[in-house]
Amino acid sequence: TFDYSGKVAFVTGAGSGIGRATALAFAEAGASVTIVDISEQGLAETAALIAAAGGKSLSVRADVTKSAEIKAALEKTIISFGRLDAAFNNAGIEQPGASIVDLDEDLLDRVLNVNLKSVFLCMKHQIPLMLKNGGGAIVNTSSGAGVMAIRNQSGYCASKFGVTVASKVAALEYADQNIRVNALCPGIIDTPMIARYTGGTEEGRARIIKQEPVGRMGKPEEIAATVLFLCSEQGSFITGHALVADGAQTAG
Ligand code: NAD
Repeated sequence: TFDYSGKVAFVTGAGSGIGRATALAFAEAGASVTIVDISEQGLAETAALIAAAGGKSLSVRADVTKSAEIKAALEKTIISFGRLDAAFNNAGIEQPGASIVDLDEDLLDRVLNVNLKSVFLCMKHQIPLMLKNGGGAIVNTSSGAGVMAIRNQSGYCASKFGVTVASKVAALEYADQNIRVNALCPGIIDTPMIARYTGGTEEGRARIIKQEPVGRMGKPEEIAATVLFLCSEQGSFITGHALVADGAQTAG
């Protein structure tokens, strides 16, 4: 376990799946956590889980594609908790499969804005706050699709390759100011996003699991533990890295 007592974490996409598990893990490790999502209901559920675990959270409904909304969420964080130590920029959406020729233009804009532009906007507003308390750590959610091309996923892959490289550039730019930035590349993780992707059926799940070298999907808690490691003192020399946590899916 990691000790985050006295630390403040900021998690986007915290109303579901990987973001929810990570917000809860930060809170259980002693951090005060700002949970950000576009879904009020998702936020309420996550806040209740954190409260039940005896943790401390601040819920802020915000759309991560809107710079002003991210800035306001961070200002509320400073008002409530006084500082910012760790950020997990994780909100994202899936892309229905389509070839480059068939990919709908509005959908492409949406995937690039939610998955990629949001990460730029978050880092833009987070880094100055972290510099005020001598540094911090940022993890941006990329994907296996952020290191490996996947047929019919050009928009999603482009967004996630973008997250990978933006994280590396930010790491270089702030390496000498004690800000670490890493990309995290999960494989198939059992969340509502994957349930939508598989059509929510047992057959869909079985089809996905059959392609997994380890014979199962990852759990959101396994990704959460990786984020806590990357943001911790124990991860102090890891920056500019794209960490793949995928049960060997991209190994072969
Ligand atoms: P999820 O759908 O369960 O959760 C995503 C959350 O992001 C939701 O609560 C949603 O409301 C929120 N969100 C969406 N658009 C938003 C916006 N504009 N502003 C604020 N919040 C918004 O998905 P998940 O599986 O937990 O995915 C989390 C991240 O992990 C995503 O970036 C996803 O691309 C990435 N990822 C997931 C998997 C997987 O297998 N589940 C694999 C690789 C990467």
